[in-house]
Amino acid sequence: MTTNRKPHISEQPITLGNWHHHVNWINTTLIVIVPILGCVAAPFTTLRLATAVWAILYYFWTGLGITAGYHRLWSHRCYEATLPLKIFLACAGGGAVQGSIRWWSSKHRAHHRWTDTVKDPYSVRKGIWYSHFMWMVLKQDPKSQGRTDISDLNEDPVVVWQHRNYGLFILVFGLLFPMSVAGLGWGDWMGGLVYAGILRFLVVQQATFCVNSLAHWLGEQPFDDRNSPRDHVVTALVTLGEGYHNFHHEFPSDYRNAIEWWQYDPTKWSIWVWKQLGLASNLKKFRANEIEKGRVQQLQKKVDQKRAKLDWGTPLKQLPVVEWDDFLADAANGKALVAIAGVVHDVTDFIKDHPGGKALISSAIGKDATASFNGGVYNHSNAAHNLLATMRVAIIRGGGEVEIWRRRDGEKDMLVNQYR
Ligand SMILES: [Zn+2]
Ligand SMILES: [Zn+2]
Repeated sequence: MTTNRKPHISEQPITLGNWHHHVNWINTTLIVIVPILGCVAAPFTTLRLATAVWAILYYFWTGLGITAGYHRLWSHRCYEATLPLKIFLACAGGGAVQGSIRWWSSKHRAHHRWTDTVKDPYSVRKGIWYSHFMWMVLKQDPKSQGRTDISDLNEDPVVVWQHRNYGLFILVFGLLFPMSVAGLGWGDWMGGLVYAGILRFLVVQQATFCVNSLAHWLGEQPFDDRNSPRDHVVTALVTLGEGYHNFHHEFPSDYRNAIEWWQYDPTKWSIWVWKQLGLASNLKKFRANEIEKGRVQQLQKKVDQKRAKLDWGTPLKQLPVVEWDDFLADAANGKALVAIAGVVHDVTDFIKDHPGGKALISSAIGKDATASFNGGVYNHSNAAHNLLATMRVAIIRGGGEVEIWRRRDGEKDMLVNQYR
């Protein structure tokens, strides 16, 4: 090391003597210790039906605070929200106990900006558990983290207000509010605290963490496979529709994650309803044309990879160029050579297998069989053209008839490509 900077704790190996210095105790308390206490208390706390319904309802409510608020509104500016909606989302997101909007969104922007690199705060390349929650449990060197522009967030009074009072938001919307609704509503204070409070935020936390781990690990990559983000319905189901993550990383400012109407994306549906109610506006959407281009390019890439694995015959430019007279001489000397479209093919091993019979193919040896092959005798199939290509051995000088292949049936790409 060339500088005298004291190495950050994250640069030192974890040992029995220093592990407690590695742990980020505030995060660990909120995402590990308190949830474990909730799990321990649950067997001793009766779960009442009303409390169960309330816990599920509050799960959706606070989950939306994260997906529609923290993620699509503040991290990506997918739409604009009125002040009442912003306040609602800031409170709901606070109740999910996942850090302030300002902290969460700055990390998330860095994740998009530096996906899968060392500067990605929750890079799945460092392991699935790291991307899931170890990045919060262990202290991170702030110098190694990618920085992003959050000037817009610093100018948003709701974001600043929530960030300054974040401890209060956890206490009120993470615990006291869900507990009080059950307590004042039907006298179940303890159930409200354990189920609608702690266990509910445990589920919302784990669901969100799945977007960083599972959505970079499980599923399809219909738009781009250079990086790790993936689409999967299971991730969508647990995260209120955030599981179409390959799409999302390609089109991050689109207010949708799922683009098909039948895909599960309640976050998108909520934003749309808020628009109808006049609470949200300027919902951003990428044009279908742009989305389809991405999909087609990825399909093409897959097709190209498959095609590269197949034997298409020696590429034309690698074949030796021979004179017509040499071709005639070699054929006269017993080689089973047939010229078709300016290319010499060695059909020795194929004569006995020729579906049209031995006689026809043998009669073409030492001749230009272009016309017979392309309809004069029989208009051979595409498969026959492919098979023929695997037998080519040379090009005849001045064999301009190669052009015939290009014109055949007007098929430009398919046939021409294989003769490149
Ligand atoms: Zn991601
Ligand atoms: Zn995102």
